[in-house]
Amino acid sequence: MVVDRSRRTCLLCGAPFTGRAFVCRPCADRYRSGPIPDGVLRRFYQQVDVEYPEWANTYGNYNPPRAILSFLERLDRNLRVLEIGAGGGFLLEELWRRGFRRMTGSDITVTALLEMSHRDSQLQVVGADAESLPFRDQTFDVVISSDVIEHLVRPDDHLAEVRRVLSPGGQYLLKTPNRRPAELYYRLRGLYDHHIWHPSMFAPGELQRAMARHGFRVSFLPVAELTAAQIRKIPTGIGKKVLSRAPIGWLPVMLHPHLEVVATRRG
Ligand SMILES: [Zn+2]
Repeated sequence: MVVDRSRRTCLLCGAPFTGRAFVCRPCADRYRSGPIPDGVLRRFYQQVDVEYPEWANTYGNYNPPRAILSFLERLDRNLRVLEIGAGGGFLLEELWRRGFRRMTGSDITVTALLEMSHRDSQLQVVGADAESLPFRDQTFDVVISSDVIEHLVRPDDHLAEVRRVLSPGGQYLLKTPNRRPAELYYRLRGLYDHHIWHPSMFAPGELQRAMARHGFRVSFLPVAELTAAQIRKIPTGIGKKVLSRAPIGWLPVMLHPHLEVVATRRG
């Protein structure tokens, strides 16, 4: 598992090192002050799928957006749904089981697209960059992304694109880590390379303002409990059992480990 300290290979340069990070310290430092080139980032994620298949959502549904799923329960099954960064398509498959039929899944990695095309549900599978979507204006009524925006180098381009492909009044359902608790966790765990794989994290107010700039009205969904992937990251010996059952819903949004929001596109 990724969070275990081990002897490993840097996903960017191939050098061996010991730690919990994905890349060696020199590679992490190289991209600390400026944006990481797109080609380097793409190679990084393809290597993640190869070396750590359990980390990404390509080969399993480890980190489902539970609050978003219960919100979707209430929606019309005829709505046109796009999931961006759909990985192996597990969330869309769940929506298929729940009666949604007009669904498109997109991802940027070849490994994810291949895996998504293996799902039983009849999805449109489209290779797409989340910052530049290959769809016409107002193609969808609902856009979903789960653990995607934090990976993007240009989140403003992404939000403008989501707004463009949504119909007026359409909704963007988004899950992402909560910046301050996440950064604290990364620091405690020695994940010195998080600026490479999570370059765009948001605190609740920051997310609200970023989305408002692109014409969205935001509301935060109640987050009831930790996901399996979050529980897996808690070190053993510090009350993993207790924490994994903790009712975090009563905490203020700023302390939630992740954020799930419904952003409505203004007309
Ligand atoms: Zn390296």
